[in-house]
Amino acid sequence: MAARVKALVAGNWKMNGVRASKKEVTALARKLAGKTKPACDVLICPPATLVTTLKEVAKGRKIAIGGQDCHAKQSGAHTGDISAEMLKDAGAAYVIVGHSERRADHGETDKIVRAKAEAAYRAGLVAIICVGETEDERDAGQTLKVIRTQLKGSLPDGATAKTTVVAYEPVWAIGTGRTPTSDDVAKVHAAIRKALEKRFGAEGTKMRILYGGSVKPSNASELMAVPNVNGALVGGASLKADDFWGIISAYA
Ligand code: PEP
Repeated sequence: MAARVKALVAGNWKMNGVRASKKEVTALARKLAGKTKPACDVLICPPATLVTTLKEVAKGRKIAIGGQDCHAKQSGAHTGDISAEMLKDAGAAYVIVGHSERRADHGETDKIVRAKAEAAYRAGLVAIICVGETEDERDAGQTLKVIRTQLKGSLPDGATAKTTVVAYEPVWAIGTGRTPTSDDVAKVHAAIRKALEKRFGAEGTKMRILYGGSVKPSNASELMAVPNVNGALVGGASLKADDFWGIISAYA
């Protein structure tokens, strides 16, 4: 039986946003300070270039800032990479690891994702660990097998509900406008919950499991009402304060 956990609505800006984009965070902060107080935590993961800027904008507001990826090592000769410690120093509280775009574009394996999650713990960041099947895997009836394998390989043994969030993101639903049915989401999230409980005991009952993939204001309430869905990881619809607010409002 899953415990009651506070939901998290997280925005992944991907490779979008410049300093002028801080106006979206200011607008969102204003909405969050208004009369409607959604019962969820709110997080924005901008490109690393904006972590400090947005952290300053979000100061004293109910918006956390996170990174989109980190290197497993703390420092060293890794040109172009950023460590979890650097993200923490810049003002991040969370970091996404194992996003399907990183897995596909940078060949990140479960082992690499796990090392990155361990780096997040080392730096005091919450790791949002992404899993999800491709369309071919789904069509072949492999969804649950793929998810269980990714969970087993990508989550460190010491994962707790405080340090770890799991995001289920079917690869075929990301940025496509397509979403699984609520029943399909319920089946996968139930399987994830079961796997987390089996491996992490009581911590597994409390770990947040986000759904991600074409979440928008028009489908957020239905998706967020699915059992074991403890929030959303949002790409495109997190870029504009109005759209993101429309999703956060599912928890109002
Ligand atoms: C994502 O990339 O994490 C994502 C869910 O994207 P979108 O919401 O645009 O499908």
